[in-house]
Amino acid sequence: MAHQWRGVINEYAERLPHFKEVVTLGEGGTPLVHAPALDARTGATVYVKVEGANPTGSFKDRGMTSAISDVASTGGVEYVACASTGNTSASAAAYAVRAGLGCAVILPAGKIAAGKLAQAVVHGATLVAVDGNFDDCLRIVRELTAEYPVALVNSVNPYRLQGQKTAAFEIVDALGDAPDIHVLPVGNAGNISAYWMGYNEYAGRTTSASIDDSATKIAAVATKVPQMWGIQADGAAPFVKGEPVEFPETVATAIRIGNPASWDFAVEARDNSGGFIDAVSDAEILEAQALLSAQVGVFVEPASAASVAGLLKAAAAGKVPSGATITCTVTGNGLKDTATALGSYEFDPNPIAPTVEATVKALGL
Ligand SMILES: *Cc1c(COP(=O)(O)O)cnc(C)c1O
Repeated sequence: MAHQWRGVINEYAERLPHFKEVVTLGEGGTPLVHAPALDARTGATVYVKVEGANPTGSFKDRGMTSAISDVASTGGVEYVACASTGNTSASAAAYAVRAGLGCAVILPAGKIAAGKLAQAVVHGATLVAVDGNFDDCLRIVRELTAEYPVALVNSVNPYRLQGQKTAAFEIVDALGDAPDIHVLPVGNAGNISAYWMGYNEYAGRTTSASIDDSATKIAAVATKVPQMWGIQADGAAPFVKGEPVEFPETVATAIRIGNPASWDFAVEARDNSGGFIDAVSDAEILEAQALLSAQVGVFVEPASAASVAGLLKAAAAGKVPSGATITCTVTGNGLKDTATALGSYEFDPNPIAPTVEATVKALGL
């Protein structure tokens, strides 16, 4: 029988904490797609890690399988809660269903893409909209879960990063070694911290985000670690400014975060890897999203395209070493936010006659 991918906890059990109960939807094992169109623009060899192929359409599932497995294994609570720009709630709601738990979602009013909201609703989560931004929502969830028997499943939960680090393992497994450079969008900064941990642990080292030293006891798989390039949106770029941003604003709602929770881990990833964190404009993000769709064949949501926008900006500034192997995480599926992708496009609603002739004419053949 063909081997079916068993989810990141079962596939990488020896490099993850042990869970009595594994709650999985088969997350991970996502495609690493070579992108010749990006090679041509950068002079490097560029791959995109298509995280929109996860069960709920974003990389959040990698961390949710481990966070919810921990909650289910530990017991004692019947509810999980998260603050969310959309994808965390979609993922938490789905994994809570599998674990038989309730899910409370605290989200900024009016700032969630429709597809993500639909996911939380159909998976039966209880939604609370807050007149504030993501950072307000996270503060509320932290206080709520400290005082009530409710488990917090945002990425400040260390089990989230444990699951998310498996994306770095998959990339090394696919390429045979670590890439030279890894580029990804930065919002709350959990993912850049998780990748840095994953790359290091596969090279036999730990980082501050590691929760034990097992990595130093298992044979190393990678001979090196990549430079980490983190990309923010101009209107939500606390790392570039060097301080929190009070009113973050960007079309890329998944990275519309002004006060990242994993600040110190992300700075460690940036500095110890010899990388950088830069910002790109909303226009550059939307151009990169369009390029990924029209020239690579991968439809991603705006935040995901920030990684590619940042890579193209670096290439234009002469910062991309020629011939380098580069991986870009494209974090979420474009279908979650079709309104932004379509912009002002309108499909012509005037139907033609139901004939081949009329169709040929309409196609201009
Ligand atoms: C959560 C998310 C991000 C940001 O990841 P952080 O770990 O918060 O830095 C980027 N893109 C998408 C699609 C996301 O869902």
